[in-house]
Amino acid sequence: MNGLLWLATTALASPFTDQVAAHPPVAHPEPAYHFAAEVYSRIAAAEALAPGVIVPERIGSTIENRPIWAFAVRDPATPVTARLLLIANIHAMEWIPTEDALAFLLDYAAHPVGGVEVDVVPIVNADGRARVEGDLLNGRNLYRRGNAAHVDLNRDWAVNRDSHAIWKALLPGRYATSPSALSQPETQAIDGLLSRDAPDLSCSDPAHPARNSAFDGFLSLHSFGGFIYYPWAGRWHRPDEHAGDWRRYQQIGEAMEAAMGAHAYRPRQLSRWGFFFRGQGMELDHVYGTYGIPAFLVETTRSGLERPADLHTYFRWYNPRDPARHVRAGVDMLRAWVTATINNP
Ligand SMILES: [Zn+2]
Repeated sequence: MNGLLWLATTALASPFTDQVAAHPPVAHPEPAYHFAAEVYSRIAAAEALAPGVIVPERIGSTIENRPIWAFAVRDPATPVTARLLLIANIHAMEWIPTEDALAFLLDYAAHPVGGVEVDVVPIVNADGRARVEGDLLNGRNLYRRGNAAHVDLNRDWAVNRDSHAIWKALLPGRYATSPSALSQPETQAIDGLLSRDAPDLSCSDPAHPARNSAFDGFLSLHSFGGFIYYPWAGRWHRPDEHAGDWRRYQQIGEAMEAAMGAHAYRPRQLSRWGFFFRGQGMELDHVYGTYGIPAFLVETTRSGLERPADLHTYFRWYNPRDPARHVRAGVDMLRAWVTATINNP
């Protein structure tokens, strides 16, 4: 960031800009990626240039008291009639999701869809990510996935926690969940945002259940795999809580695929990834099952492994050396997710 932007950012004091000022970016060995301090300084610079378009909110704190930031992005001149939630970096080493979320946030701030607010949480697992940053700075090659309590935040949700698959006894590691639902401050922060300001359902028609959230759609970015997953993850059944849901998932997923061009990710129901596979207690089942809104989990890239030596570098498994092409395709995919979700009610 140049000096003028830095001044503009720090002159408008707020809890967010205070934090940005207190944690200036440092040089590091993965310059194609942003460390957390760089993510937030880029957002602060964009926020300062277009007041009211990007609104930061601290939605929670991690175990080690790092803030969990959400950024509401919208055209301030148009009343909000739809809201979507995009989260990234639940898993500590999955950084290209944060790059996608950051690039999308900046692009959407420059070209918002009138009336459609997108809330972006670019870093959910801030403690896990901070450990990976320390590893990179110190030349350590450690495998990290969970938060500070070593809980997998991808398996800490309330819906479809129990596996009925007979394979559970054979492959117990595949089916591991956390000790109890929403046991961690990071998952509580996301769930709190989803449940806040929910519409009053007391007079809704039970034959057509209304969504149970102020949000109209949800997407969680992971790496790697190249798939656009939709529920259910924890059971084989089609996602048909409300009539037409499965068709809607396919329509939104296919619109996202079409927007990506070559090497597009493919939409698929997660539990049908393999005949033995179930993902118990995952965020997409939780959001769809609890709030009745379409929920996707996107596995970005088809891994960052390009050379034999990469197999020995955990960070590279998830994060390609040059993220630019993947991030451009990711932004196109996310813009298609916004319009397809709004256009397929
Ligand atoms: Zn992941």
